[in-house]
Amino acid sequence: MKKMNNLENLYRQVIIEHYKHPRNKGLKGFPQARLYNPSCGDDITMETKIDSGIIQEINFDGTGCSICCSSASILTELLKGKSITEAKKIIAKYYSLIKGEVIDGEEELAEAMVYQGVSKFPARIKCAALPWKALEQLLDGENNEQKS
Ligand code: ZN
Repeated sequence: MKKMNNLENLYRQVIIEHYKHPRNKGLKGFPQARLYNPSCGDDITMETKIDSGIIQEINFDGTGCSICCSSASILTELLKGKSITEAKKIIAKYYSLIKGEVIDGEEELAEAMVYQGVSKFPARIKCAALPWKALEQLLDGENNEQKS
């Protein structure tokens, strides 16, 4: 039990770190998707520069709770340099994690594993998912462009 508490404490520290010192915050004018979570007031815009099916850059901006803003920051670091296919797999795995489902290949989620405990707080699942849903819209848009 003590070990679990230490782990939760570590997770909290990672979340606070990213909330206070967000990575890749500030938009540069790449294609954007903005999502709003009325139940919490989170308002997040994600943007990506995708070239040859690879995510070259991801930035975000917006306001919200510590869960939402920190997960946007972690997301930008995690998916930068990944292909669209890889990114979609990681996003799907992350959704499973925050819903409390058993996942394999935890190392793929790296720092995003800190949201493991979110499944215990159903109201916060939306907060943790919001930036990822916005990014997913951008990736889907990219796929559609390539098809047409
Ligand atoms: Zn929130």
